[in-house]
Amino acid sequence: MAVFVLDKRKKPLMPCSEKRARLLLERGRARVHRMVPFTIRLVERLQKHSVLQPLRLKLDPGSKTTGLALVRERETVDAGTGELVRTLVVVLLLELQHRGHAIRDALTSRRSFRRRRRNQLRYRPARFDNRTKPAGWLAPSLQHRVDTTMAFVSRLQRWAPVTALSQELVRFDTQVMQNPEISGAEYQHGTLFGYEVREYLLEKWGRKCVYCDAEHTPLEIDHIHPKSKGGSDRVSNLTIACHDCNQRKGNMPVEQFLAKHSERLHKIQARAKAPLRDAAAVNSTRWALFQRLKTTNLPVEVASGGRTKYNRHRLQVPKEHCLDAACVGHVDAIKDWQQPVLSIKATGRGSYQRTRLTKDGFPRGYLMRSKGAFGFQTGDMVKAIVTPLAGRKPSKKVGTYLGRVAIRARGSFNIQTATGLVQDIHHRFCTLIQRADGYGYSWTKIASTQGEAGTGAACAAALSRPGINAGVPRAN
Ligand SMILES: [Zn+2]
Repeated sequence: MAVFVLDKRKKPLMPCSEKRARLLLERGRARVHRMVPFTIRLVERLQKHSVLQPLRLKLDPGSKTTGLALVRERETVDAGTGELVRTLVVVLLLELQHRGHAIRDALTSRRSFRRRRRNQLRYRPARFDNRTKPAGWLAPSLQHRVDTTMAFVSRLQRWAPVTALSQELVRFDTQVMQNPEISGAEYQHGTLFGYEVREYLLEKWGRKCVYCDAEHTPLEIDHIHPKSKGGSDRVSNLTIACHDCNQRKGNMPVEQFLAKHSERLHKIQARAKAPLRDAAAVNSTRWALFQRLKTTNLPVEVASGGRTKYNRHRLQVPKEHCLDAACVGHVDAIKDWQQPVLSIKATGRGSYQRTRLTKDGFPRGYLMRSKGAFGFQTGDMVKAIVTPLAGRKPSKKVGTYLGRVAIRARGSFNIQTATGLVQDIHHRFCTLIQRADGYGYSWTKIASTQGEAGTGAACAAALSRPGINAGVPRAN
């Protein structure tokens, strides 16, 4: 795990190891600047640009979670081939959990309460649909995704000398496929091209089996007109099907296989010929994020999801948001990725509304006027050391807790720790670690580290076989 280091003017230096940070603190050469992520500030040193190594921040934007990876890049020349080899050394892995759903739900309920209040008084005819949205407008739940991601890009720029950015912008790269449906490029295996085609087909056929609409199951690439009957490997002859349908269809022509489902047959035949537009590969939120990343004046490398997947399988890295981020763009080798992940959850800063409502919009209760109590605020990170009271039998809650506090006016707080919720901890046991900043922080382990490396290799092997595993679609 890396520790961020700032100089005495709070300018970022290269992150250091935990051991080095401990030594610097013990010798009084550094102060603690921030607890999560742990940042120290050197007392005497000033930043010298000559000693900074280039750090790259890589992003894999998703709808629920955005993966971020801060990496050090090392470029060497391969002695044998003379090619440039780009090795990544992972410095820090982060996962940012968005709260788009919470924002959408809050706005929907506010809208319906208002509508009800207005309608129950008198009849109001519908207004003309005369509202216009400015160009580039995003729904608040989507704008929040861009904003929170940018917040962490600028924070990481403050804590570490980031010199370049990488973002996954599109699902597949039509340039790599060279316009597959028009030029009739052949489907090849084991290359980047194959991964781009897989992503393209998943997007084109809606990430479900075309024969039975099965979702969330491993999907395979199927030749609509079978190869054994002279069908080509062209992208326009390929579709995706679940394992069962693929087996049942075997080398039957599609007309025979779907003889009893003429409607589905016609739909597939029509869809197969129509190429997917480029626009389908890029969504508006990712594009908006790209535009914002460019305003940092750092070079932004963009890559496709097909390349990410290709890198992930080639480097035998498990499927995690943060590791996907590390695999974005040009990567030849990756080191030190087996480390804890800083999981950041967007929690918001509480609500302006001081009245709690029932589902019908009637007042149910009132929150306290002030957001603070006894020097704490909901969302603060606190450490509580609960000691037994003199002359009483020790309570069950004796112990040390670290986590996010939820304040109560009566003075007994709830603490959300990494292991669970601890209720009714009195404020005099609590000490402030870090003020609330709208995010909850915790350290998590990568679920599939070590011991599963064999599975990764097996997975890579399966992928290099023809027509296997178009991939299980992820939630985003
Ligand atoms: Zn199926």
